[in-house]
Amino acid sequence: MNKDIATPIRTKEILKKYGFSFKKSLGQNFLIDTNILDRIVDYAGVTERTGVIEIGPGIGALTEQLAKRAKQVVAFEIDQRLLPILKDTLSPYDNVTVIHQDVLKADVRTVIEEQFHDCDEIMVVANLPYYVTTPIIMKLLEENLPLKGIVVMLQKEVAERMAADPSSKEYGSLSIAVQFYTEAKTVMTVPKTVFVPQPNVDSAVIRLLLREGPAVDVVNEAFFFQLIKASFAQRRKTLLNNLVNNLPQGKEKKPIIEEVLKETQIDGKRRGEALSIDEFAALSNGLYKALF
Ligand code: SAM
Repeated sequence: MNKDIATPIRTKEILKKYGFSFKKSLGQNFLIDTNILDRIVDYAGVTERTGVIEIGPGIGALTEQLAKRAKQVVAFEIDQRLLPILKDTLSPYDNVTVIHQDVLKADVRTVIEEQFHDCDEIMVVANLPYYVTTPIIMKLLEENLPLKGIVVMLQKEVAERMAADPSSKEYGSLSIAVQFYTEAKTVMTVPKTVFVPQPNVDSAVIRLLLREGPAVDVVNEAFFFQLIKASFAQRRKTLLNNLVNNLPQGKEKKPIIEEVLKETQIDGKRRGEALSIDEFAALSNGLYKALF
């Protein structure tokens, strides 16, 4: 049997055989280190009972390692040129399906229903295209898919923002959005040297384990996220200023906002970045009741 796809030599051979040229616009940085891939699959806890969704299989480096350990792998790949390559490189594995589609446009729920009925749990595992990391993760979370978790390679800086604690400089609306749905942890940082071509930014692997329900009880989810966005609109401003300036009709409603801050015992002079997700939930519920 051939050597693993994710070795520098085999990758070079495959790229040469097909005359493949990387498209930077599609975030194509392929992994050439089987140790890193093994660790990603370990962190995802993939077993013969797991159904795996992969986003962007490239030439199949991670797909192959997943196929060896998972029950079933379904991979979404946007680049048509990679389809014949994947057909070739993944031919030894009969538990892989490649779907030629932009994952952002895909009906992932239907794919899960159709492909994973024999699986006990579903994980998303990927080396993500960096230009669309956040939209992909938010799509997977907002669609409330029946996932156990998401283990993905992404820009180190984005991983740090997703897993950040309150009051850290990385904490912001992305941290809250991700932590609303998941328990987030950066599990590994990864050097540039394990990719071809090497990306311009540092990379990390994040593990997001989905909560059984949202982290906090909110009366209206849309308003909760609107409040978070308003609170972080200008990071140097106080919470009260941000709410007054950025909530709809905030200026007219200033007395109500001040009253709710008092009731929830949150000092309006604090900055948004100092509030925990529980405090945001209390504020959101209080304001929603008072304003609507
Ligand atoms: N998994 C491979 C690896 O680790 O070597 C390739 C990872 S590479 C960082 C990202 C892959 O995502 C590329 O194959 C790219 O063509 C694909 N891709 C980019 N945008 C996509 C999208 N919107 N939907 C599906 N795949 C996409």
